[in-house]
Amino acid sequence: MIDLGGAFNAPPGYTSVDLQDADVNCDIRRGLPFESSTIGVVRAADFLEHIPHCADSSCLHKMPFCTVGMMNEIHRVLAPDGWFFSYTPSSDGRGAFQDPSHCSFWNPNSFWYYTQTHQRQYVRHLSANFHAERVWQEYPSPWHEQNHILYVGALLRAVKDRN
Ligand SMILES: [Zn+2]
Repeated sequence: MIDLGGAFNAPPGYTSVDLQDADVNCDIRRGLPFESSTIGVVRAADFLEHIPHCADSSCLHKMPFCTVGMMNEIHRVLAPDGWFFSYTPSSDGRGAFQDPSHCSFWNPNSFWYYTQTHQRQYVRHLSANFHAERVWQEYPSPWHEQNHILYVGALLRAVKDRN
């Protein structure tokens, strides 16, 4: 179980992966230092919005990773049926846009491209393939609701060749 960007807030039981002060220190945008299909759970809370979207539709998603490259990499390290949990400010609220260090924007529809055959054809070089177990939105606390900071959660399962 690994927690991306989790130097200071990885839940118990997770191995944190971050630039510094983590269990595993590395620049995640240059690849995860794990063999393919070896990870059971990848947690990304307040993480994906710090990875930039593709510059345009000719993007090859190479390092340093754009969001598609990052999703491909997460899928690469996950075991078949491994879990990916994402929790990020939704573009349906203010949280996605208020922080100047946010460079990608997410809502429930964002996960269609990684989970639905019809949508994924619009993104070239997309190898990440997931089954959406649950995608939802919520306010994490009354404070978040008061400040219009809605979150989108996604619980996805890696679809991979078991061989
Ligand atoms: Zn890209």
